[in-house]
Amino acid sequence: MIDLHSHLDLYQNALSLLPEVSKRNVFTLVVTTSPRAWEATSRVFSGYENIKVALGLHPEIVKQKEKERNLLISSITKANFIGEIGLDNSLRSRNSIELQESIFTDVLTECERVGGRIMSIHSRGAATRVLNILEKHPGAGKPIMHWFSGSIKEVHRAVSNGCWFSVGPAMLKSAKGLKILKELPINKILPESDGPFTTQKSLPLMPWEAMQIIPEIQKLSGQTHQELCLQMEENLTTLLNGVF
Ligand SMILES: [Zn+2]
Repeated sequence: MIDLHSHLDLYQNALSLLPEVSKRNVFTLVVTTSPRAWEATSRVFSGYENIKVALGLHPEIVKQKEKERNLLISSITKANFIGEIGLDNSLRSRNSIELQESIFTDVLTECERVGGRIMSIHSRGAATRVLNILEKHPGAGKPIMHWFSGSIKEVHRAVSNGCWFSVGPAMLKSAKGLKILKELPINKILPESDGPFTTQKSLPLMPWEAMQIIPEIQKLSGQTHQELCLQMEENLTTLLNGVF
């Protein structure tokens, strides 16, 4: 099992979940919402080789966390994984879009300066803006578009830029999500749960449940369940190549 976008630190019983997540999943990427949260979570989650904590500043809270901006940029040199970063242009975050763009640009500039990072990127309502900035920073590393929800044209643009895509069961519940899935190269897809923000039968989706996307991919590709699980592991290996 693989989960490329989990908010494991935000589950009520996060600490007691760690051993189980580490046992069930080959790899889990825990994205954080602020650099201070990254510092604390990295400390607490250390000791689990297959659970990595990404340094982030969630675009929806840039205003509240603006004081942590310098800490974010100065910590990039110490972090292999960056996320959750990006832009959110939905109604409630729209008023901070300029600040978001300015921070996102600084993050990518710094990622470029330090030789590139693996980045989990949020782009709700802002796919074109995100792609515009990404294209200006080709050396920033490997962008993983988390829960991509742009237009088909934007999907194609992201694909041709070499983006990766983390796809979760929640995304595939909508017709739009399924339409996007059809356009993604199979070797650029990785599973994500986005738990505990996503739920199933009113319980948070668990990191080992991200692989529930496999049956939907199966319908499109005609490959067996096992072949697709192997494909996801191969994708993970390619993504992580050069990091460890
Ligand atoms: Zn998230």
